[in-house]
Amino acid sequence: MDSKNASKRILNPKTTHREFFGVPGSAAVMLGTPAVVGIWYFSCNEKVGCQLPTTRSQWSDIAADIINYNAYLSSEAITYYALWWSWLVMLCFVIPCSYAEGTLLRNGERLRYPINGLSSLLVTTVTALLAYANYGTAPYIWIADHFFQLAVASLLFSTAQALFVYLYSFRRSSQDLPAGSDKKPVLLALAGNSGNPIYDFFIGRELNPRVSGLDLKVFNELRPGIMGWILLNVSFAIKQHHQFGALSNSMWLAIIPQIWYCIDTLLFETKVLTTMDVTTDGFGWMLSFGDLTWVPCMYSLQARYLSFHPVHHPPVVAAFIAVFALVSFLVFRLSNSEKNAFRANPSDPAVGHLKYITTESGSKLLVSGWWGMARHINYTGDWMYGLAQCLATGFETPMTYFFSAYFLVLLLHRNYRDECKCRDKYKKDWDRYCELVPYMFIPHVI
Ligand code: NDP
Repeated sequence: MDSKNASKRILNPKTTHREFFGVPGSAAVMLGTPAVVGIWYFSCNEKVGCQLPTTRSQWSDIAADIINYNAYLSSEAITYYALWWSWLVMLCFVIPCSYAEGTLLRNGERLRYPINGLSSLLVTTVTALLAYANYGTAPYIWIADHFFQLAVASLLFSTAQALFVYLYSFRRSSQDLPAGSDKKPVLLALAGNSGNPIYDFFIGRELNPRVSGLDLKVFNELRPGIMGWILLNVSFAIKQHHQFGALSNSMWLAIIPQIWYCIDTLLFETKVLTTMDVTTDGFGWMLSFGDLTWVPCMYSLQARYLSFHPVHHPPVVAAFIAVFALVSFLVFRLSNSEKNAFRANPSDPAVGHLKYITTESGSKLLVSGWWGMARHINYTGDWMYGLAQCLATGFETPMTYFFSAYFLVLLLHRNYRDECKCRDKYKKDWDRYCELVPYMFIPHVI
């Protein structure tokens, strides 16, 4: 084996294990998830109400609606969507920013990321207020009324983007570089180099595709979808007010926690750089679609439902939901912040009193405080927070609880992946940690 081949093997080894049941599973996800967006739209909207189709005839009605629908594509929606994405790219470059370094990559590089997500949101908010001052509620009503066309536009855009990054990942392999070149070959995701185009396109072939300095993965993860989610929520609230002359308390209970969640994500923008999505996963269809279509379109379902079906909770119920949301958020935020502070500086006065074990890898693991209660108490808080937003929609339909059900599956899968990662990294120290902290999500229960 020559040295060129050896270095190629070490840097970008062939993927042998395929997640999501390989090609059939990936194809099913790529067909199934957009179908879910469609089914949820066609069975939960202003005209038909919001009932989960259960009988054969209900399913055939929905199928007929989907087939006969003749307004999937809107050139206006596609144009506005492209403008939205381009606007946020522009802000990423022109707004003054600090820089944060990502984790050390297998090729010895550490990427630098501009940190100006929150100021981009601020500038976008001011622009949105100016639009309101000039055009009134019309642009927001348009967004609410063209939700589905915008969802289709984002699907087209995310698929085109995934195709682009897949093809782009072939631009420079180790074989293309002359000996002694100071350029580095493209770094592929360990899970995205199977050689099967369908699977690699789906899971993401390149780890951190960058075009003219724009890191596509982190940009997509934090900006167009997260801020689009806020814009959709605000538009649905305006739509409700426009139709019914007032905002229901349920609308406040659904959108304030969600908007705060988005702001929190941008406040802690640097923390995304250490998540599995950024350090380990490739950028392919799954993340592109997830960031651009799934998050804004499915996560805003509660506000969309309330825009045509206001629910008025008695004050005591509203207060219960608000307190439940607040407590859940505190569990989520305080547990994450405790670990972040500890990872940044274990002797920080805020965490210096906590007990920890030192592992053979050199890393320390907290065994008291939030992380002594359960190994993923942050997931529990996050899930409960999502449930509070669903509770805001009342109990007339199970459809608005989609987020809770889906998020449960997502967090269980994430928990499984993280436990595997930690077991692999910490080996017998992880067993020791599990003995000291036996519960996964809820102290003394599970
Ligand atoms: P976590 O923030 O839970 O981080 C897990 C990592 O923390 C482990 O891999 C390990 O990394 C370290 N760790 C584990 N136990 C300890 C300990 N006892 N002491 C110190 N370090 C420890 O993972 P995620 O990135 O998955 O989640 C971050 C947040 O984002 C969560 O609250 C989650 O709910 C949320 N999230 C939300 C999503 C959404 O769609 N809304 C999607 C995904 C996540 P190491 O030791 O290597 O440092």
